Amino acid sequence: MADYTSLKLDPGKRLIAPEDTALQALGEHPALPETVDVAIAGAGVIGLSIGWRLAARGLSVAVFDRNTAGTGASLAATGMLAAAAEHEPGGDELLTLALESQELWPQFRSMLESESGIDIDYRNEGTLLVANNRDEVDRLRFRHELQQRCGLDAQWLNPGETRTLEPGLRSSVAGGILCRGDHQVDPRPMVPALARAFVKQGGSLFEKTAVTAIDMAGGRAGGLLTDAGLCKAKSVVIANGVWAGELLDPLNIDTPMRPLRGQAMSLITTRQTGTLSHVVWTEQIHLAPKRDGRLVVGATVEDMGFQAAVTAGGALALLEGLHRALPSSEEMEVEAIWSGFRPTSDDDAPIIGETGIDGLSVATGHHRNGILLAPVTGKAFEDYFVHGAMTGAAANFGLARFARNQAALRHEPHQVD
Ligand SMILES: Cc1cc2nc3c(=O)[nH]c(=O)nc-3n(C[C@H](O)[C@H](O)[C@H](O)COP(=O)(O)OP(=O)(O)OC[C@H]3O[C@@H](n4cnc5c(N)ncnc54)[C@H](O)[C@@H]3O)c2cc1C
Repeated sequence: MADYTSLKLDPGKRLIAPEDTALQALGEHPALPETVDVAIAGAGVIGLSIGWRLAARGLSVAVFDRNTAGTGASLAATGMLAAAAEHEPGGDELLTLALESQELWPQFRSMLESESGIDIDYRNEGTLLVANNRDEVDRLRFRHELQQRCGLDAQWLNPGETRTLEPGLRSSVAGGILCRGDHQVDPRPMVPALARAFVKQGGSLFEKTAVTAIDMAGGRAGGLLTDAGLCKAKSVVIANGVWAGELLDPLNIDTPMRPLRGQAMSLITTRQTGTLSHVVWTEQIHLAPKRDGRLVVGATVEDMGFQAAVTAGGALALLEGLHRALPSSEEMEVEAIWSGFRPTSDDDAPIIGETGIDGLSVATGHHRNGILLAPVTGKAFEDYFVHGAMTGAAANFGLARFARNQAALRHEPHQVD
């Protein structure tokens, strides 16, 4: 099954160079350890962030991925750290978690870059939300009011101010919001940086090694059964993104999740085409300029099950949105187009913490925020394994909340119209 598709328009330009992964770069293939402190299923940004932080605290950690690191949702991501721009009504608890993670990002980045030796293209120009025309202004004003009520750093801009920040935008731009605290990174170097930092801290990364089941031989989670053999562990973390149910369902642990397909593309900008200097959001798309000259255009949100295909409709939606926002994009070369599955829970928030089975935790459901939330998720598990409990907002995102919501629904009095 393909988890990740890239349409390579030029065979010389691979979307993800496999030689970028830490394992191959370090020229190592570790032997399967007989036993470790923590075994983690899934080497996306979440499994790797947890593994890296735990290995840095002296725990022995093994991370397994059935493909190569990041080839689930993580390498499909744009890399926006957009707590303010993404904030939706009803998402106050998630906002608290997102802001905690935003605050952790600068330190997470400097540790990651210095340990891995890889620049992850952290950019702090901020994010610009744009109304393409007068119809969109009311909805943007509504978003701005919400951001202000939440005390977010979000400045309203008139059309002239918006185009002063981004002169390449179409002249019909009718207003904007500048979210100064919403930065970005590039997942392409971030994934290998995480893999390399994890391995440098003594972690064992097994790519092309599928986890087939959780070892429950002793009546508790005692390791991971993989297609390379059994790796015994004092604790197990299931961090395999939207596929978590494959490992948890057999233990009757219900993770209410579904894949939300996102299609995205990257364009190559030149001096002639120009580029952007901020991440730009419109109602239809977001545009993220990367330091290597690419402009990432994302992303569709489609409830299609596990259909990884890149479609004409997806490409059309991206191109239409692009054309409406940035006229000079017509001359930009298309580098690649791809899809990925956001791991999306019933309340769009992550599922972090214990499962009710001794020795077994879960970290999934990061939906459209896994890059943003990687530092806070890594820290949550560091707190849990080193100090015995999660602290801060992460403690509110356990699996138990779904059971509580179900119970609340059962006890809610019937409404009569
Ligand atoms: C188009 C798109 C754009 C996005 N943009 C952003 C953004 O700008 N900012 C942001 O914060 N987030 C963004 N996201 C969301 C982000 O990509 C995800 O939330 C995040 O990558 C989830 O990480 P993960 O490690 O939980 O899952 P994944 O990256 O999916 O990793 C799970 C891993 O588990 C492996 N696996 C599965 N089953 C098994 C098994 N049985 N055994 C071993 N390994 C297994 C898979 O191969 C995979 O590598 C975007 C997502 C998409 C699709």
